[in-house]
Amino acid sequence: MVASEGTPYVKTGGLADVIGSLPAALVAQGVDVRVIMPRYSDVKFGERSVVSLGLVRVPFDGSERLAEIQQAVPPTDAEKADDITAYFVEAPQFFRRPSLYGYEDDLLRFGFFSRAVLEMLRQLTSLHWCPDIIHCHDWHTGLLPVYLRTVFKDDKQIGNIKTVFSIHNLAYQSVVPKSYLPRLGLGWDTFTFHRLEYFDQVNPMKAGLVYSDELTAVSAGYASEIQTPEYGEGLDHVLRERADHLTGIINGIDYTIWHPSTDPFVCANYSALDWSNKATCKRDLLKTVGLLPENGQAVDLKGKPVIGMVSRLSSQKGFDLVIDSMEQILELGCYFVLLGNGDERYLHLFEDLGRRYPKTTSMNLGKFNEELAHKIYAGCDLFLMPSRYEPCGLGQMIALDYGTVPIVRCTGGLADTVHEWEPKTRTGNGFVFQNFSAYEMMAAVHRAVETYHSPAWPEVVRNAFAGDFSWDASAARYKKLYENLARESRVHQAPEVNKKYA
Ligand code: ADP
Repeated sequence: MVASEGTPYVKTGGLADVIGSLPAALVAQGVDVRVIMPRYSDVKFGERSVVSLGLVRVPFDGSERLAEIQQAVPPTDAEKADDITAYFVEAPQFFRRPSLYGYEDDLLRFGFFSRAVLEMLRQLTSLHWCPDIIHCHDWHTGLLPVYLRTVFKDDKQIGNIKTVFSIHNLAYQSVVPKSYLPRLGLGWDTFTFHRLEYFDQVNPMKAGLVYSDELTAVSAGYASEIQTPEYGEGLDHVLRERADHLTGIINGIDYTIWHPSTDPFVCANYSALDWSNKATCKRDLLKTVGLLPENGQAVDLKGKPVIGMVSRLSSQKGFDLVIDSMEQILELGCYFVLLGNGDERYLHLFEDLGRRYPKTTSMNLGKFNEELAHKIYAGCDLFLMPSRYEPCGLGQMIALDYGTVPIVRCTGGLADTVHEWEPKTRTGNGFVFQNFSAYEMMAAVHRAVETYHSPAWPEVVRNAFAGDFSWDASAARYKKLYENLARESRVHQAPEVNKKYA
């Protein structure tokens, strides 16, 4: 697994959760998985020590550079047996920076990373290991299959390795001017409409889509949506072209981290069989975020649903609808608790709303706070995800696992996991709206709050708890994909220069 982030080492979003949990599920099914990511300044090793496996030479940007390959090693033998082997590419000039992403030279940084991973497999003989499949994730690793099929196509050690490329979020593509191509060590034959070229620029996401043997998207819904112009982010034609090699596999969640019966961050554990302690978690959450005084025992919270959000602050997540509707949400007698980090514009807008409604809203902005996230999932009654698009979405699955009922827009992974509560059939685990409009979102919030006040509510909560979002089934699908691919005798070739797209 080659990725730009992964728990427990470094996380900015859902990709890290996947890299932190899918490998263990695959290992449980007998797959030998190792993970590699860059060594950023804020990688957290916890109790583990860091061991150097040696240096590799990486020809890049006009010179030969060195990268150190490191491995995280847990302190005890028992922990070593449980730990997924994790390697890190240490190259301070590229990765020892305050943030993970957002630099002008990002594509050079991750191009270097991709190339260094392949050099490691060739040069670091002490590894005594070579994978059958390299599984890449998102644009950061999109150039790896290109290096493999161009620079290393005749390499005896690695030239026949197959690649799987997973699309976690097609919207982030990190397109750069074509002048970067020689700096990345790639020939101009890769710069065609059928390969890396994208409006006269270099597109590493397209590179991954075109050069990898198999593609996956993180839900079935998203896999079909991205083949349409509406969701294809300018690459829908490439995805249609490769539709036979594109599979939707829904992400799971790691129940060792996300489970109300064992969660160490919540003040009172509970389960699907007895969730009476959820009310204690609600009270604790409201105290933690300052909406209830420490001595607020007497306040009756049953009549006041808490709506929560834990999310990157980005327009993808539908915050414009939430901002437009905040007054109406509060008029329904709800509390609103947000934990979010991201776009400045939203930070300011939510700060303002927090000032306007200090008694009923809590805006926890500009920080990444694991503990508060857990408290929100456990302590809320409703979880709001009105996304414009959502490749998979972990928030709604975690919420369901905590018996917190989601209100979502019907898109991507949200549509695959959340179904409207139907009073007639007593089915459904949430509230769903179709079009990206504040009016439709508010109608869903109304339905949710009305149901919350009705005798049917425990049934909705029970349905929420009933979902199975463990990795088992999805890991089995990845395993099958790997096995089929490993059996193929030929590797995939990028389209010929003069091939026409349909
Ligand atoms: P995305 O990957 O698009 O950001 P997902 O819903 O797939 O969205 O995953 C988001 C993950 O990041 C979830 O585990 C969520 O709890 C977590 N998260 C997002 N923002 C924060 C934050 N500010 N503090 C703590 N956890 C956060």
